[in-house]
Amino acid sequence: MRLILLGAPGAGKGTQAEILSEMLSIPTISTGNILRAAVKEGTPVGLKAKALMDEGKLVSDDVIMGILEERLQKDDCKNGYILDGVPRTIPQAKAMKEMGIAVDTALSIEVEDEVIVERMGGRRTCPKCGNTFHVVYHPPKTEGVCDFCGSALTVRKDDKAETVKARLATYHADTEPLKAFYEAEGKLRSVDNQPTIELTTAEIKKALGI
Ligand code: AMP
Repeated sequence: MRLILLGAPGAGKGTQAEILSEMLSIPTISTGNILRAAVKEGTPVGLKAKALMDEGKLVSDDVIMGILEERLQKDDCKNGYILDGVPRTIPQAKAMKEMGIAVDTALSIEVEDEVIVERMGGRRTCPKCGNTFHVVYHPPKTEGVCDFCGSALTVRKDDKAETVKARLATYHADTEPLKAFYEAEGKLRSVDNQPTIELTTAEIKKALGI
């Protein structure tokens, strides 16, 4: 299964990717998580990406393609992968095609903007392993502590209200057209956001036929 998750920032792609990853025994590749790690380590890519990320703008396609190509070469991607946050633009989708990166299905999680804005305020992220939680909808077992690695959870800088609005605008302008792109290839499946994570997972399983 080579799956792309589409959807606005905060639509639940990361959370659902984590669940599907375990269910299907394939890795999730999140360009956002890779970039945040690069920023933290202060690598050249991280230094280039930081300001753009803080403003809710997109990092350049060539940087993203380089990251993706390197990650997909690892052994764990042999039986499939889940791409979370990439492709983010039509040029990225075209570049992936040219590079021979296969996609079986593009799954779009549909959530209204107002719901996104409310949700992002409660999002907490693990700065070490990248897993995300929500204070109400997906709380960690111990408040403020990552279930997976025990690190203290933080609020992502780009989850601030003004940045969320900028990221939503970027999503509608640059990323949403990917739905038509994959629809034209007969690969698009869409699910509506449900009141709980479990119900959304159930819809996704139905849409994917798994
Ligand atoms: P995310 O965690 O997917 O919301 O990504 C956080 C930020 O990283 C985005 O707002 C962008 O600045 C950057 N980013 C992540 N993936 C991509 C991508 N495929 N193309 C361009 N920028 C990206």
